[in-house]
Amino acid sequence: MTPKIARFLRDNAPATPCLVLDVDRVEEKYRAMRAALPLARIYYAVKANPGTPILERLVKLGSSFDAASWEEVQACLAAGAQPDVISYGNTIKKVSAIAAAHKAGVSMFAFDSIEELEKLARHAPGARVYCRILVQNEGAEWPLSRKFGCELEMARDLMLKAGDMGLDPYGISFHVGSQQTKTAAYEGAIARVAMLFTDLKEAGVKLRMVNLGGGYPVRYRAEVPEIDDFGMAIMGAMTKHFGNDLPEMVVEPGRFMVGDAGLVSSEVVLVSRKGAADPVRWVYLDIGRFGGLAETEGEAIRYEIRTPHDGAEDGPVTIAGPTCDSTDTLYEKSNYRMPLKLACGDRVELLATGAYVTSYAAQFFNGFAPLKEHYI
Ligand SMILES: *Cc1c(COP(=O)(O)O)cnc(C)c1O
Repeated sequence: MTPKIARFLRDNAPATPCLVLDVDRVEEKYRAMRAALPLARIYYAVKANPGTPILERLVKLGSSFDAASWEEVQACLAAGAQPDVISYGNTIKKVSAIAAAHKAGVSMFAFDSIEELEKLARHAPGARVYCRILVQNEGAEWPLSRKFGCELEMARDLMLKAGDMGLDPYGISFHVGSQQTKTAAYEGAIARVAMLFTDLKEAGVKLRMVNLGGGYPVRYRAEVPEIDDFGMAIMGAMTKHFGNDLPEMVVEPGRFMVGDAGLVSSEVVLVSRKGAADPVRWVYLDIGRFGGLAETEGEAIRYEIRTPHDGAEDGPVTIAGPTCDSTDTLYEKSNYRMPLKLACGDRVELLATGAYVTSYAAQFFNGFAPLKEHYI
């Protein structure tokens, strides 16, 4: 929690549940990313948090943007971004969205299949295209696995075809999975990309760009490597495989840029037990899976939770949301403990919830309003 957020909570006691996010912290993270990888261009993955004040600050800092939809492209443009710094990074795009983005001046698109490449050739002629390859997601707490990307061999064929189809075969991308805690994941992926560069060069296509995707982690309950560790591992692998012929480098951090810039302030609705002798209390909050905490699915992302009684004697808890749906249970197996004094009405803070929360919130499920957002 930044001092600015602590002051805001103390002075305003905003209605819960709400996200409070310190935009200065986003700037700090942007600068840290720059420092860790000075040769890479930063394309902020808008889906992590599309809040306008975040986009506007990043525009001011000279960031580029990775958009997942035409709506996100529009959000970047509205925040003042030039179309030539926007990459349309989703490999699954509606034809109407491709055409609209192309017309707006977006000139860089991702794909991972011949079918998508044909759509791009028709509706975004001349665009710079990059192919996403499948890579290992081991070490990622929120893996993206097989939904995106194609095999190396297919990528090679597609990049060979792209030029003949009137597109500019620009580069290769990958994503090692979100909340990736192992630097080796990037090293392994870069080795695969380098093989492809060599292959294609021999076949007469000189690629110019490597897109290293996102994945850079945020500290939740457990320590993670520093961004400088990722920077060093990535640059080490790049120079090992490309030598003096370094291609342009792109990174697409989402979670890293906004995760620990924000927190969710919530209220305890009920503390109860399922049996008089049951040691485990159930703590129900006014936010849950449907209020935006989608990444608690499978207890994948385990947020740190602050209570007003921290330090006092505690006991085991199961933590759940307020809706009438049993999947709206956040943590049952992750050994959460909370103070025995915790009671209905207490205010608790879920730390480092600036990424992948507001945009996942449901619309009025059970009548609950979408999460309120305060950007300070
Ligand atoms: C989601 C996504 C990102 C951001 O991932 P993080 O793990 O939040 O950094 C980057 N690039 C693409 C293509 C994505 O889909």
